[in-house]
Amino acid sequence: MKKVAVLGSTGSIGKQALEVIEKHGLQVTALTANHQVNLLAEQAKKFHPECVCIADSTQAKTLETLLQGEKIEILTGTEGLCQIASSGKQDIVLNSVVGMVGLLPTLSAISAGTDIALANKETLVAGGELVMKMAAEKQVKIYPVDSEHSAVFQCLQGNAMNRIRKMILTASGGPFFGKKKEELKHIRPADALKHPNWTMGNKITIDSATLMNKGLELIEAKWLFDLKPEQIEIVVHRQSVLHSAVEFEDYAVIGQMGVPDMKIPIQYALLYPNRTECPTKALSLTDYGVLTFEKPDYETFDCLTSAIEAIQEGGLLPAVVNGANEEAVAHFLKEEISFLAIGELVKEALHTIPNGKIHQVEDILQADEQARKFVRQKIACC
Ligand code: MG
Repeated sequence: MKKVAVLGSTGSIGKQALEVIEKHGLQVTALTANHQVNLLAEQAKKFHPECVCIADSTQAKTLETLLQGEKIEILTGTEGLCQIASSGKQDIVLNSVVGMVGLLPTLSAISAGTDIALANKETLVAGGELVMKMAAEKQVKIYPVDSEHSAVFQCLQGNAMNRIRKMILTASGGPFFGKKKEELKHIRPADALKHPNWTMGNKITIDSATLMNKGLELIEAKWLFDLKPEQIEIVVHRQSVLHSAVEFEDYAVIGQMGVPDMKIPIQYALLYPNRTECPTKALSLTDYGVLTFEKPDYETFDCLTSAIEAIQEGGLLPAVVNGANEEAVAHFLKEEISFLAIGELVKEALHTIPNGKIHQVEDILQADEQARKFVRQKIACC
């Protein structure tokens, strides 16, 4: 029986992972949430983990009350997340927490030699170099959960000896595909939170609307598959049926298709290399009829341009872009800045904060904080 710790179990990925876990009778060792204490307690009563962690420590008392009489240890904060990830009590840690806070638990799991199903993008965006190096040293496997990276991982099965010429990273284009900046001036959070194909958390849905999500995924792919940024071609594919593809030396292109449902990549990461029935729907190509492929609009969606520039420069800049974006999105969701300001702030942070080398994890955390502070100050003064 495979033992799984689910970090971020009350989020969109976490909830879908629990569906997969329930379907296949996997054992849950730990569950964690940021602030959704009621749902976390409900999940804990159902899946009986050894421990739970609530990141927002002000909710710890409530959680204690909710779990009274259950034999479940209660932890708090990022320390709690790291304690779970490094405990060695599970075969795999699913890291589906949102944002930069996911980096330290990933490093904790690696230090314990535990494999990771990785849904937290920021881990590789900000810390890719360090994380991949440590994972190689510890022989820890990182199974991608993001649909695009899972697609590439699936395409590479049986092809370990073959070099990738190019990766085709597909993008839905988000809710504002085809629009120009002029039309995006008055976008409010409610408009941006309507994604055409995928059901996801708020942060990633906004990142999909700005196309920052694709920029973060390009960086993630660079590290996961040891590619140069210029080997990754972003293609807008509105139907989200082809989840990404790989072109080999002989120009053969292998892609992975399926309905847009995260349970497929989640299950592949958790049950790898087995393929067994998944709680989702079958793909009917004739229902779609036409699949389209177009170039992204780099001028309108400047977050994407900034992310690519950051990874081309390397060093701390991907962490800077990521931190600035996370901060800007949080302010946009509170309706404190405009939709277009997200891209402007990210670009300004990228061009203002000096680059540097990454020697240790503290360098990444510092660059992240510097970027967030830069954005906060910009917002406060304007
Ligand atoms: Mg994705």
